[in-house]
Amino acid sequence: MVKSEYEKLLKKIQDKVSENKKNSGSRFELPQVDIMWQGNRTLFRNFSEFPKILRRDADKVLQYLSKEFATPAQMAGDKAVFVGKKEPHDFTSLFARYVKEYVECPTCKSPDTRVERSNRLAFLICEACGAKSSLKGNYV
Ligand SMILES: [Zn+2]
Repeated sequence: MVKSEYEKLLKKIQDKVSENKKNSGSRFELPQVDIMWQGNRTLFRNFSEFPKILRRDADKVLQYLSKEFATPAQMAGDKAVFVGKKEPHDFTSLFARYVKEYVECPTCKSPDTRVERSNRLAFLICEACGAKSSLKGNYV
């Protein structure tokens, strides 16, 4: 092989590797949780951005948060309102768990998945590797 060709090939491989690294490193670029406290309530001001990025129903995501916090919650436009004072990191860690349980492909860890329902079962279909896995939770 001519040297320049070899170098080109090497460059190609390196590009590919750094591309993969970038993909697996970023996973989800979830926005910063934007919280405001109002009396004994927590206003999650940019809530609606999260289900959009997760590509899940806002209702289901809200149900999940509400259940995990064991506190009532409701949507108000783009916002979600929770009873009690919550810290931004409370939401961040719940989203991390939600992603692991309901979004991330168990096979290849890609977040590019969608939910498919058949009868009363829900499946996670991975658009990256094609794996189909069953979802057991109630918030899909
Ligand atoms: Zn996959």
